[in-house]
Amino acid sequence: MADTKLISKIPEGPLAEKWSKRKAEIRIVSPNNKRKLEVIVVGTGLGGASAAASLGELGYNVKIFCISDSPRRAHSIAAQGGINAAKNYQNDNDSIYRLFYDTIKGGDYRSREANVYRLAEVSAAIIDQCVAQGVPFAREYGGYLANRSFGGVQVSRTFYARGQTGQQLLLGAYAALNKEIAAGTVKSYPRHEMLDLVVINGQAKGIIARNLVTGELERFGAHAVVLATGGYGNTYFLSTNAMNSNGSAAMQAYRKGAFFANPCFAQIHPTCIPVHGDQQCKLTLMSESLRNDGRIWVPNNMEDVIKLRKHEIKPSQIPEERRDYYLERRYPAFGNLVPRDVASRAAKERCDAGYGVNETGLAVFLDFADAIKRLGHQRVEERYGNLFQMYEKITSSSPWEEPMMIYPAIHYTMGGLWVDYDLQTTIPGLYAIGEANFSDHGGNRLGASALMQGLADGYFILPYTIGDYLSHKFAEPKTDTNAPEFAAAEKAVRERIDKIFAVKGTETVDSIHKKLGHIMWEYVGMARNEAGLKKAIEEIGELRKEFWKTVRVPGTNEEFNQELEKALRLVDFFDIGELMARDALNRKESCGGHFREEMQTEEGETKRDDENFMYVGAWEYKGEGVAPELHKEPLKYENIKIATRNYKD
Ligand SMILES: Cc1cc2nc3c(=O)[nH]c(=O)nc-3n(C[C@H](O)[C@H](O)[C@H](O)COP(=O)(O)OP(=O)(O)OC[C@H]3O[C@@H](n4cnc5c(N)ncnc54)[C@H](O)[C@@H]3O)c2cc1C
Repeated sequence: MADTKLISKIPEGPLAEKWSKRKAEIRIVSPNNKRKLEVIVVGTGLGGASAAASLGELGYNVKIFCISDSPRRAHSIAAQGGINAAKNYQNDNDSIYRLFYDTIKGGDYRSREANVYRLAEVSAAIIDQCVAQGVPFAREYGGYLANRSFGGVQVSRTFYARGQTGQQLLLGAYAALNKEIAAGTVKSYPRHEMLDLVVINGQAKGIIARNLVTGELERFGAHAVVLATGGYGNTYFLSTNAMNSNGSAAMQAYRKGAFFANPCFAQIHPTCIPVHGDQQCKLTLMSESLRNDGRIWVPNNMEDVIKLRKHEIKPSQIPEERRDYYLERRYPAFGNLVPRDVASRAAKERCDAGYGVNETGLAVFLDFADAIKRLGHQRVEERYGNLFQMYEKITSSSPWEEPMMIYPAIHYTMGGLWVDYDLQTTIPGLYAIGEANFSDHGGNRLGASALMQGLADGYFILPYTIGDYLSHKFAEPKTDTNAPEFAAAEKAVRERIDKIFAVKGTETVDSIHKKLGHIMWEYVGMARNEAGLKKAIEEIGELRKEFWKTVRVPGTNEEFNQELEKALRLVDFFDIGELMARDALNRKESCGGHFREEMQTEEGETKRDDENFMYVGAWEYKGEGVAPELHKEPLKYENIKIATRNYKD
């Protein structure tokens, strides 16, 4: 029976007509009424910047917030490889349906058909909009936009701007945003961190933000609030995410009544520079685009492995017959371009079997020797030059001479705030877009689909769907920030800050966060099992206690204090980590990036349990120290045949 608290609002009718139908139903707010309505957008990555620019252009009064000193420094600028769209420029038989199909299959049949189809449907418009903004996508000789392939697909549909696609897309969105800032429809609040959501009469009405320069707590009211605050991968301490990425805004919303969906679905990316010491705070991604031409291998014999570890031979000295191109061997149809979860597990399998190639035994090779021979230096340089440079700067080894060494690392979170088809959370008036929501990627996101989703949400979906809610609000007065709910939220934030300063312990925030990271990676990482997940929940609880006894945050609240910022976020990471472990414990199946060791095939592949787990798991907060309640949104597949994922033939 459907859960009465999870109304997904998926329109009736044929799949291809659902979005048009919904758009036709949505009430439109007239231009003179839009001017009376205020919307808060938290986050200036591709999701937030595109949404705020679009809402501003529509005529709403928008306030936009971010942690960094400029909206254009959001984590989205880190995106390297590209953005998908079903344009079929390569004439390789791509289509909206194929993008939809690949995404559902890639997510291991754990995402909503209707949302994913809509994403594929609007994907082409994103490229047109970005080209019109002047985003310098790579082009072919004849002027057409160029494409490359990403994992989990057999067509080339990824648009890119060298290895800096996110940065170029964000510059486009930022330019659009600046136009609105200049026009006065958007007011920008950089260096302002949301520390609580204000809910009045069950509806989202504003936020409490800390001015990160002065420490002042400020109240902001609106008719609706949009969270575009990114993912929570930094729960693991070491990840490819920007240092400021965090899950706090989502947790604040969760504690105020927004359900948190599929928290255990975290993506581990196969091609990252391996961990090289205990003093690291960041991992570096080597873009998935490299798997278009790079070949992944390890030696097929222990003798070479040992010699490599002792630096007695170089990888390039190992002849072909002593190499194991294990992805090509195991998955002939997709080869090196299998989806991320599959490639990550295969790397772990080889390393666990003893064939890992650096001193720690936790690395495999990504080799360009064949590509350089086949394409020549110049073409490889054009495609991957900046990535090669980055790799060499970090490792002092040139990918032109020897293969890169890579290993899987935490990269993206598919889970997030539960949203309905309109991208509204379970709190009326609160929307979540981009990586902050759970909407489209199921158990595993395909490469180049996060940018597509963030911009689809921000440019083409939310600006319409939020109108439906706001069309009932224009007669309401502006939100009064003197309301008791604002005062209570501000007081709670102040008390949290005071409580952190009062600990006066001896440990740095990072040292405690690192311990959380170890627990997460060990028990809620690439492979999970019942005993480990129970242990994780217990150990996170102990670590939380340790934090409140031992943390030391120097300085004061009334200044720029990054230790305080990190401490406040760590408090939320404890809760997210625990929720992830709880969700992983509940989901007694393997699907996508969620690999329960108890549920695997004889060949070590994921084994889903469609009968019992074909649902979105959405958790409802029930109070501090109380177990959250699980709600289930069943997933129906009416347009796609459910199958075991097959990348072999
Ligand atoms: C190294 C790397 C490379 C990637 N490459 C690709 C790629 O090639 N293709 C692809 O599709 N995807 C890629 N991804 C994934 C993609 O970049 C992200 O999923 C996407 O950019 C997220 O965008 P977003 O708008 O949802 O959030 P973000 O870009 O993470 O922005 C979050 C915003 O919220 C703000 N914020 C957060 N919390 C608060 C708060 N409490 N108060 C105020 N502001 C707050 C931040 O300051 C920031 O402005 C990559 C990811 C990484 C880590």
